[in-house]
Amino acid sequence: MKTSTRCVHLGTGDDQYGAIVPPIYQTATFKQPSALEFGEYDYTRSGNPTRKLLEQQVASLEDGAYACAFASGLAAITAVTRLVTSGGEIIAGDDLYGGTVRLLERIVASQNINVRYTDTTDLAAVERVLNPKTKLILIETPTNPLFRISDIRRVGQLARQAGALLAVDNSMLSPVFQQPLVLGADIVVHSATKFLGGHSDVTAGALVTNNPAVYESIAFHQNAEGTGLSPFEAWLLLRGLKTLALRVERQNESALKIARFLEAQGCVNRVLYPGLESHPGYAIHRNQSQGDGAVVSFSTGDAKLSASIAEKTKLFQIAVSFGSVGSTISLPCRMSHASIPASLRNKLAPPEDLVRLSVGIEDPGDLIEDLSQAFELSSKQSIVLAVAAR
Ligand SMILES: *Cc1c(COP(=O)(O)O)cnc(C)c1O
Repeated sequence: MKTSTRCVHLGTGDDQYGAIVPPIYQTATFKQPSALEFGEYDYTRSGNPTRKLLEQQVASLEDGAYACAFASGLAAITAVTRLVTSGGEIIAGDDLYGGTVRLLERIVASQNINVRYTDTTDLAAVERVLNPKTKLILIETPTNPLFRISDIRRVGQLARQAGALLAVDNSMLSPVFQQPLVLGADIVVHSATKFLGGHSDVTAGALVTNNPAVYESIAFHQNAEGTGLSPFEAWLLLRGLKTLALRVERQNESALKIARFLEAQGCVNRVLYPGLESHPGYAIHRNQSQGDGAVVSFSTGDAKLSASIAEKTKLFQIAVSFGSVGSTISLPCRMSHASIPASLRNKLAPPEDLVRLSVGIEDPGDLIEDLSQAFELSSKQSIVLAVAAR
């Protein structure tokens, strides 16, 4: 079955009354067959049928064997870092989500785990930092918000040779466009808050793997640390997943139109989108994915102008996060990546004038018109300010 069919037909479960939509098992605990025996489920922290159904659905979409659903993307990433114990090392991409950097810097690093931030688009750089202590390579591709592209197959080979695991955060593309396990990654993680949910109404995370030992360790931590997703949120995600392919295909099409529109704007000096031939990672990206996603970044060279554009759009709401049916606009340096610790800001924070768009499912013509009027108002305002400053 193709992905769009799987989105709709999996995740329906096998209800005793034939319900087309699976019920929500909104229960914290389950009656046992006897005092001495456990049933299939005993306590929702350890396992719940609604969460299980979601986990099966997500595993299938990533072409993986096992999945765990978490209370957030960061809970899923935390579980990945639990695979590394004291004395081990992690190689992390150098343009990761701000919250991931905060987790690595402020929590993981204090557990005697060394984290080496590395430009993983450069295979020689990865080889230089790999060493016998390396247990995990954690990357995003494309990265958010700079769209750096790492070669999943090649980084996976390097990891294997070194006896380390490769984990890929696939939040930016969704399994519709990229399936890292098929390319040789050991683990895929998602902020399901983004495209998988798709409606900005649920915070969730997911992890998929084909490795039974990895799954066992992750499932153990999910239960022991109490980070599993609640039944209601799991049900919302099952609902969101039905339209995943439909949504992201439309979003991808509109995002390319918007990227081309941005390229033609006088006040835009750089457009970052992996679907543009001008993108430095274009060839590698095409070789490992079937789509480019809905997130587009651009810079103006002027942080004030960028802020003004964000404030003057009407359909694009100013908000962190991406992947929703509704379009959003943000300044990553001030918003999603503001959590990068001060000591690392020079190295790891995105530029101040960078604007990030997440393109929703609205009419693309309306979205372009909205951006047009914001550009026009903002450039008029910056001319007035420049004249006044003289
Ligand atoms: C949002 C995001 C996360 C964190 O996910 P939460 O669901 O907010 O915890 C991790 N990685 C990437 C790439 C993200 O965009």
